Amino acid sequence: MDRDESSFLCACCGEANDLFIDQSGGDRQTLIEDCAVCCRPNVVSISFNPFADRYDIEVTLEGRD
Ligand SMILES: [Zn+2]
Repeated sequence: MDRDESSFLCACCGEANDLFIDQSGGDRQTLIEDCAVCCRPNVVSISFNPFADRYDIEVTLEGRD
């Protein structure tokens, strides 16, 4: 299995969005995902945590300083 279904909370409106992580992209990836609710682009930074055996996910809004 090389795709991991996860989710992130929109940095703008807080709604949960589905996130599909392509594990072939590496242990650290930055994805741009538009929120399904408010349509704002979220910068989703993911890094694999081998101790927890899952991805740690951080979300910021694109363009925010
Ligand atoms: Zn949103």
